[in-house]
Amino acid sequence: MKTYKIASIPGDGIGKEVIPECEKVLNALSKKHPEVAFQFEHFDWGGDYYRKYGIMMPDDGLEPLRSKDAILFGSAGDPKIPDHITLWGLRLKICQGFDQYANVRPTRILPGIETPLRNCKPGQLDWVIVRENSEGEYSGVGGRAHQGHPIEVASDMSIMTRVGVERVQRFAFKLAQSRPRKHLTVITKSNAQRHGMVMWDEIANIVAKDFPDVTWDKELVDAATARMVNRPESLDTIVATNLHADVLSDLAAALAGSLGIAPTANLDPERRYPSMFEPIHGSAFDIMGKGLANPIGTFWSAVMMLDFLGEKALGAKLMAAIEKVTANPKLHTRDLGGTAMMSDVTNAVIEEISK
Ligand code: ATP
Repeated sequence: MKTYKIASIPGDGIGKEVIPECEKVLNALSKKHPEVAFQFEHFDWGGDYYRKYGIMMPDDGLEPLRSKDAILFGSAGDPKIPDHITLWGLRLKICQGFDQYANVRPTRILPGIETPLRNCKPGQLDWVIVRENSEGEYSGVGGRAHQGHPIEVASDMSIMTRVGVERVQRFAFKLAQSRPRKHLTVITKSNAQRHGMVMWDEIANIVAKDFPDVTWDKELVDAATARMVNRPESLDTIVATNLHADVLSDLAAALAGSLGIAPTANLDPERRYPSMFEPIHGSAFDIMGKGLANPIGTFWSAVMMLDFLGEKALGAKLMAAIEKVTANPKLHTRDLGGTAMMSDVTNAVIEEISK
């Protein structure tokens, strides 16, 4: 029997609801397939931890995570704590601490889900966005001086390194190569950002030479938003900087029906450290504690985790169960226009995988 050690970090808001549901689903999968087991260790980091200790997670918090096979993460965000503290103090501390430089975000319209795009036929929207996850606009370089005075100054600097750009682009070309269409779109803004983004473009030209079977094109980030809406079928794999991909992937999630469905993986492709899997959505305090959260984004993230751990058959089984459940409108939560509760969705997925 193979036992996977999973760090479970629900974080804040609905993260505290969807992560336990995901554990139930993984345990049900293990019950049906006893050759695989999951051993969860729970970490109560996040907003409440901050209120007690003044930090989102312990300074040496990465240590107990280091030996895990993967990390399952809910969300970080609290209406009473500034966003930059919740983000930098927990999620980014883990992503950057474990050099999870490739953030992978698949988007697909699942069976039974309606897209706001009028003319989009099933199968025409099937994307994977690769987000650079370690530098760029999220490098944390910059500062503020003379706060509150008329001469106040503030800056955020985007840092792009050749190593950082090349490794994420190489990862994206490889991912594009593994998908049936073998097509990559490199998102840029080199018309306005004339240093870092110009280097980004140059590196894409160089890396592309190692992938002659991948067709690729370049798109300005602003034009990319329109293309996602007007010509979704023209896109397949997409690679973008930290900030550009952050914005594009929220748009992608909305076009695929709901933020509540979208998954993401923060990968260390070299497997030096554990990778982290989480739904795209945030803490959604407006629906917290009501059992209304859609857990599908978290379940799909668990599929990505199983795939990354090498348990592809189990991942496929869980994905099939998810698609069976989304196909039934009676099992749609409120974000999808339905009346189902989170627990109805979980129970239905468990029923499917237990068959
Ligand atoms: P944060 O500050 O942590 O990013 P947020 O509340 O600003 O959180 P999100 O949580 O990403 O932003 O979500 C925006 C809205 O989408 C929420 O207010 C909620 O109504 C809805 N939503 C997000 N995720 C889900 C979900 N899993 N199920 C149902 N509705 C959701």
